[in-house]
Amino acid sequence: MTGNVLHGWRAEEYGRSRNGVALQAYLPAGEGPIAGLVTAAQHGEEAETGLLARRLLERVRGTETRWAVVQCLNPDGLLAGTRQNAAGVDLNRNFPSPTWRADPSFTYPPGIERARRVLANRTNRSSPGEHAGSEPETQAAMGLVERLRPPVVVDLHSPLELILVRGEPPAGVAEALGAAADVPLERELEGPAPGSFDDWLEDRGIPALVYEVEHASLPALCARHLPGLVALLRA
Ligand SMILES: [Zn+2]
Repeated sequence: MTGNVLHGWRAEEYGRSRNGVALQAYLPAGEGPIAGLVTAAQHGEEAETGLLARRLLERVRGTETRWAVVQCLNPDGLLAGTRQNAAGVDLNRNFPSPTWRADPSFTYPPGIERARRVLANRTNRSSPGEHAGSEPETQAAMGLVERLRPPVVVDLHSPLELILVRGEPPAGVAEALGAAADVPLERELEGPAPGSFDDWLEDRGIPALVYEVEHASLPALCARHLPGLVALLRA
């Protein structure tokens, strides 16, 4: 075997994207309940989060963890370099939480400088879907979560450099992640995110950590954020 081989993980297709790309989950070796779920690249322009998740899968063996990992929630968006999926839907506004709204949402263009992240520059327009939960990627993520029933979900995003805590995660998890990377824990974000994955999770009684890394080089992101995530998976 050549390439970046993964050890001890069970790869499982949990659905298909709108363009028919396999949605892949990596499950730990052996049966039994999982300790948590790491997800990444729900926004396709946040490719660095998918790369971080991949590095995590390579550093931790599936035999030494009870966590599951989804490296890419939105492969069509990742391939296109867009936040949205192939139908122009922001998946993180498509979940059937009570907050879902039918009107388009506006976010910052990918790669915008930090200084230009002011509300007037929120010009990247997304559909929240024809109805709540309309997208195959959303439905597949919901199905995976319902089946695995993770005690906590860590959803990787960029570039806000914070950890948004939703619900009550298992004791110490948020604090350990925040301390390991020196990232602040927040309870609220500026601006609404109706129909978000974490809204839906909280509504289902599943705590979530929206872990937003900063815009930085991949080596810098790995050095800062992987130790805490590796420790979490091995705990
Ligand atoms: Zn994001």
